[in-house]
Amino acid sequence: MTYICIKCRRTWIAGESSDELSGGLCIDCTTEYIRQRQRNQGFQDCFRRAVQLCGMRQCTYWDYCNRELVECEKIREIATEGALDQQVV
Ligand SMILES: [Zn+2]
Repeated sequence: MTYICIKCRRTWIAGESSDELSGGLCIDCTTEYIRQRQRNQGFQDCFRRAVQLCGMRQCTYWDYCNRELVECEKIREIATEGALDQQVV
């Protein structure tokens, strides 16, 4: 699917390529939008700046912001488990 940013008109491709067009916010515009929301809510505008799991669990965007980091943790766990399984087999 080809996406076109509704704000800056940048296009990008996600998932399987096809001729279909879909609108959305690009990564940069999403980040900018959420950082603005964070500032409005009195939080630090730290969206996507975190290099480790964020301590501000009360932030509305915690799950979204930390998703990749959480995924990384999961992948690391799975990778470790996989390595253990292979040792057993
Ligand atoms: Zn954009």
